[in-house]
Amino acid sequence: MYPAPIEAYFAPRSIDEALQCLAEAGDDATFIAGGMSLMQAMKARLVEPRVLIDLNEVEELRGLARGPRSLTVRPMTRYRELAATSALHGALQALGDAAATVGDRQVRNAGTIGGSLCWNYVASCMPSACLCLDATLVLASLAGGTRSVPIKTFLVGPLETARRDDELLIEIVFPASIRRGVGSAYRKYGGAVDGLPIVGIAAQVEVDEAGLCTHARFSVGGILPTARAFDGVGEILRGRPGTPAAFAEAAAAAADAIETQGDHLASAGYRRVLIRTLGRDVLAEAHARASNGAGR
Ligand SMILES: Cc1cc2nc3c(=O)[nH]c(=O)nc-3n(C[C@H](O)[C@H](O)[C@H](O)COP(=O)(O)OP(=O)(O)OC[C@H]3O[C@@H](n4cnc5c(N)ncnc54)[C@H](O)[C@@H]3O)c2cc1C
Repeated sequence: MYPAPIEAYFAPRSIDEALQCLAEAGDDATFIAGGMSLMQAMKARLVEPRVLIDLNEVEELRGLARGPRSLTVRPMTRYRELAATSALHGALQALGDAAATVGDRQVRNAGTIGGSLCWNYVASCMPSACLCLDATLVLASLAGGTRSVPIKTFLVGPLETARRDDELLIEIVFPASIRRGVGSAYRKYGGAVDGLPIVGIAAQVEVDEAGLCTHARFSVGGILPTARAFDGVGEILRGRPGTPAAFAEAAAAAADAIETQGDHLASAGYRRVLIRTLGRDVLAEAHARASNGAGR
C-alpha cells in the first residue's frame, strides 16, 4: 500500500529548529530517522502523519561523546557506526554487539538507535541492550526544556514509551566506567527471514582481581510487554567465580522469573529455553571480556 498523503515535509538543521517544526505542526507531525520502521507502518497505514520532520540533517543528533564517567550516544547514530566504533569496547560492548546483529546491511546503514528506542518494537535489540547497560534518555521539548528518563521508565510497552508527543530524544547516556574488569555482551536468536529477535539477551559482568563476580546485569528482549531486566542474576553471581555452572544457574533463574509469551514465532516455553541457553552463553561471554581486562 502507499502511505496516506503527506502535506508537508521539513528537514531542520538543528534541535531547536526540529522542536519548532514539531510545535508548529502539532499532533499530526512525526519525526523520521532511518525510516526503517516508520515507513513500513506508514505504508500499512498504521500511522498516517500529515507532516514529516526529517532528522537526518540535524548534525547535533549524531555521534558519540565521552565524558569522565559516561558515554553519550546521540540518537541519529546508525547501527553500522555503533557496530564499528571502539568507543563501546569493554563495559558497553553489548551495544556494539546488538547493533552488529540488527537486520541486514541496509537496515544497519539506515536505522538508528534513537529510532529503535522511540519505536520500542517488541522484537528489537536496542531496548534490551540499553536496559542492561542502564541508559538514561534525555528528551527535549520547546515548552519543557530537557528531562532525563531512566530506560526502565522510558520503555512502557509494545510501541509505547514515556516520550511525550512534543518531545525529541536528543541523547542516550550510559554510565561508562573506565576501570578494568567490566565486560558486556549481547546475542539474539532470530527468525530466519528478517532476523528480528525471538529472544535477545544482554549481560554486563564485573569481576574483581581474583576473578570473582562483583556485579552483574541481565536483560531480555523479544518478550511482552517490553524488554525486562532481571536483578536476580547479579545476586546469584555475586562473590562467585565465573563457572559454567554459575552462569547456567543464573540464566535458569532468569528463565523461571521472566514471563514469556507464545506467538506465531515461538511458544512461551521455547522462549524460556532460549533465555536459559542463550543467557548462559551471554553471561559467559560478558564474564570472559571482563576477565580479559575489557573496560580498561
Ligand atoms: C528488514 C528489517 C529487519 C530488521 N531487523 C531488526 C533486528 O534484527 N533488530 C532490531 O532491533 N531491529 C530490526 N529492525 C528495525 C530497525 O532496527 C529500525 O531501524 C528501528 O526499529 C527504527 O529505527 P529508525 O531509525 O529506522 O527509525 P524510524 O523508523 O525512522 O522511526 C521510528 C519511530 O521513532 C521516532 N523517532 C525516531 N527518532 C526520534 C527521536 N530522536 N526523537 C523522537 N522520536 C524519534 C519516529 O517518529 C518513529 O515513530 C529491522 C527492520 C527491517 C526493515
